Amino acid sequence: MTNRKPLQPATADGANKLHNLDRLHHLHPFTDLQQYANKGGRVVSRAEHIYIFDATDKKIMDGMSGLWCCNLGYSQPTIVAAITEQLQTLPYYNSFFNCSNEAAITLAAELADVMPSGFNRFFFTNSGSEANDTNIRLVHRYFDILEKPQKRIFISRKNAYHGSTIAASSLGGMSAMHKQITGLTYVEHIEQPYWFENGGSNTPEEYGLIAARALEAKIDELGEENVAAFIAEPIQGAGGVIVPPTSYWPEIQRICDERDILLISDEVICGFGRTGNWFGCETYGMKPDLITFAKGVSNGFQPLGGVAVSDKVANVITTSDGEFAHGFTYSGHPAACAAGIATIALLRDSGILEHTRQHLGPYFRQRCQELSEHAIVGEVRTQGMLAAFELVKNKDSKERLGPDGSGAQFARDCAIESGLMVRAVGDSIISAPPFVCSNDEINILIDRLVAALDAASDEFGVRG
Ligand SMILES: *Cc1c(COP(=O)(O)O)cnc(C)c1O
Repeated sequence: MTNRKPLQPATADGANKLHNLDRLHHLHPFTDLQQYANKGGRVVSRAEHIYIFDATDKKIMDGMSGLWCCNLGYSQPTIVAAITEQLQTLPYYNSFFNCSNEAAITLAAELADVMPSGFNRFFFTNSGSEANDTNIRLVHRYFDILEKPQKRIFISRKNAYHGSTIAASSLGGMSAMHKQITGLTYVEHIEQPYWFENGGSNTPEEYGLIAARALEAKIDELGEENVAAFIAEPIQGAGGVIVPPTSYWPEIQRICDERDILLISDEVICGFGRTGNWFGCETYGMKPDLITFAKGVSNGFQPLGGVAVSDKVANVITTSDGEFAHGFTYSGHPAACAAGIATIALLRDSGILEHTRQHLGPYFRQRCQELSEHAIVGEVRTQGMLAAFELVKNKDSKERLGPDGSGAQFARDCAIESGLMVRAVGDSIISAPPFVCSNDEINILIDRLVAALDAASDEFGVRG
């Protein structure tokens, strides 16, 4: 199935014009604005299956599923048809003031079907950031109703990503973002379970327990009566695909169970199949009270996010008088919800998720793990359709390939040049390919990655 082509092939003139208009008028997220104003970037004009095409018609295999969201690739006619039909029937109506719409209702009911048991209520937003803002509002409301208003503090982790509004970046632990904001006063950060960086001489399993017990120490320091919730991604995505040691989540669960604090699983990346199961909390056997979702819920075809609210929290907030004074004009937008319904139908009913869990994920893992033999790869981390490759100059000392992440940036640029989109995070190359790849396409992805790693080891003078 192919998407409609542009009526005219992009001309060099047209491509240049767009490139310049972009540079002059369009401010980009997470971008060096001065550099962009001078140099501009890559204009992506169309996409098909797992490939994007830029304005010069260069074809690039998308090893990142867009921004971790186009999990089913770019050619999904049933999602497009669902959005189109919805726009022709009811293009917009709000969910305020006791109104609802069929798409939002149906999506909520479908989510109840695919979410872990005990999740039956859903609050819709346009994005993951807004969903995490909503989490703060829901948790405050919950403890207010329970007459524990002093429980206000959120604990999160360094190098976590929870979005980019002020509240979401406060929850997040990205130092570059914190430098540019005055964050919320009631968020505290603990160590991340990043064994390769911080594990020292501990085994991964030992280090997983140490990292988890930082939560226990922090709660005890702040006083359980003041702590409302712990928020974490099952696997940190933007932070560099930090796959935690297997000892980590059971220990976190024990600590939360023994104390009266809520556990929030930010599944904006891990949700909807990325880790091999519907949700990352299922992969790790943990039982959150709130789940943040976005990105893959609509396959990236419409802006959509939200919070899945457990019965434990819902039973409090739906049985108390007074308005929950929070929401967005586009909460439950019918076209976005239609995209969500069609995406869930594909994942559940076409066997894509089952295929990813049983065949594609294990194949991707096997091919990625082979790269741990490469001269500059210090560690390979994989889970489901997520992978990270730590680049080093020396495998024993873990000395980084280049200063300030330059090794990973060089390898990423080589990969893109050779037709593979991947990301550099710190000293790692990361990848999160769509679930609709064939094994042959995984092979091509690996070949291009190896070529980029070879070029990087030459550039930084490492002998294979
Ligand atoms: C992308 C992301 C968000 C933010 O989602 P937006 O839709 O960009 O606001 C939040 N949490 C995680 C884990 C993410 O990866």
